[in-house]
Amino acid sequence: MAELHLGQVLEYRGDALVEGPEAVTHRRHGALLVEGGKIAVVGEADELRAAHPQARVTDHGGNLLSPGFIDAHVHYPQTAIIASWGKRLIDWLNHYTFPEEISFADPAHATQIANLYLDLALENGTTTMCSYCTIHPGSVDAFFTAAQARGMRVAAGKTCMDRNAPDGLRDTPQSAYDDSKALLARWHGVDRLSYVITPRFSPTSSADQLAALGALWAEHPDCLMQTHLSEQVDEIAWVHELYPTARDYLDTYETYGLLGPNALYGHAIHLEPREADRIQEVGAALIHCPTSNTFIGSGLFDWPKRLAEGQRIGLATDTGGGSSFSMLRTMAAAYEIGQLTHKPLHPAQLWWLATQGSAQAMRMGDRIGALAPGMEADFIAVDLASTPAIAQRAARAEDIWEAIFPTIMMGDDRAIAGVWTLGEKRR
Ligand SMILES: [Zn+2]
Repeated sequence: MAELHLGQVLEYRGDALVEGPEAVTHRRHGALLVEGGKIAVVGEADELRAAHPQARVTDHGGNLLSPGFIDAHVHYPQTAIIASWGKRLIDWLNHYTFPEEISFADPAHATQIANLYLDLALENGTTTMCSYCTIHPGSVDAFFTAAQARGMRVAAGKTCMDRNAPDGLRDTPQSAYDDSKALLARWHGVDRLSYVITPRFSPTSSADQLAALGALWAEHPDCLMQTHLSEQVDEIAWVHELYPTARDYLDTYETYGLLGPNALYGHAIHLEPREADRIQEVGAALIHCPTSNTFIGSGLFDWPKRLAEGQRIGLATDTGGGSSFSMLRTMAAAYEIGQLTHKPLHPAQLWWLATQGSAQAMRMGDRIGALAPGMEADFIAVDLASTPAIAQRAARAEDIWEAIFPTIMMGDDRAIAGVWTLGEKRR
């Protein structure tokens, strides 16, 4: 049966990261007609009510109907260690991350955390994410099974590491290839699930392992490939020691077939000009993880340069290096980093990054991340007055963006009034 959802609606007409608010249409009294798990029509509430008298109506009042948030880089296995104190990247991995990831050898633990993580994500309005798992194939099975049960479109892959990681967290070039290939065959394209080829980063992969994963990607070029790039200065120096003949960090991936249009590079803070040029030329995506970059002390994403270059950019929490599950908090941190780099991002740019921008980075922009006919009906209702502090500020707003901005800067899961995937209510 058709369902009609009434509320404020934002529609994208173009790339709001580039064009700003001009690329977005706001309907104060808008409506979505949802049928068969997809958005059939978007329009004015009065007109759609008259045209579809048989539809079941849900009136969301002044709440904003938005595409569900899309988090383009998370580590679901790090859910339980989020907000761990006092370390920078390499120490943080050794001290907090690796000990926790070892426990994912137990499939019951993986299942428990996968369910916990996905519930937290949905509470925060995130309907799709691109996740790293651990080296254990069972950690991938657990995540996809939990996402499948929630009707979610997600992407994930087995994290591959064959060096500079503790016992119990290393695979080999051959087993990384074999396990990844078997998982890809089992899950890629099943329901709404996508397999992602996932070397953690060059310091924990030998050249042979990167080459093996590059070969796998060449066999399955439609898959995404995710990894980390140029997060901290110390890490970059380490990469130069480990790969002395590489021109730069990106070259360690490029040489072994791990640079392509379907690549997602997390962080990409301290890019050399050659790296930025190559990524832009190839059309790979940079995934900005602002709460992680400030929390782990990595540095500031160069917003003015990356925008001027016309890079494809997605937004992400980097749970649990990031300090929040909320894409609202993540947009706020992106805004703060924009300010620190002298590029204040407009609320339209921030909202677009957290929805269609991340969807495009994940090559899913034609299915999710926008409210438009034919799109999958993954959407959220956002209360723009969810706390007294936000409500009093939003009450003075003169346009929709001024009404949304206090929720971006101060909002959390209390602002998420409802969450739907494939048109079904999940929260
Ligand atoms: Zn990460």
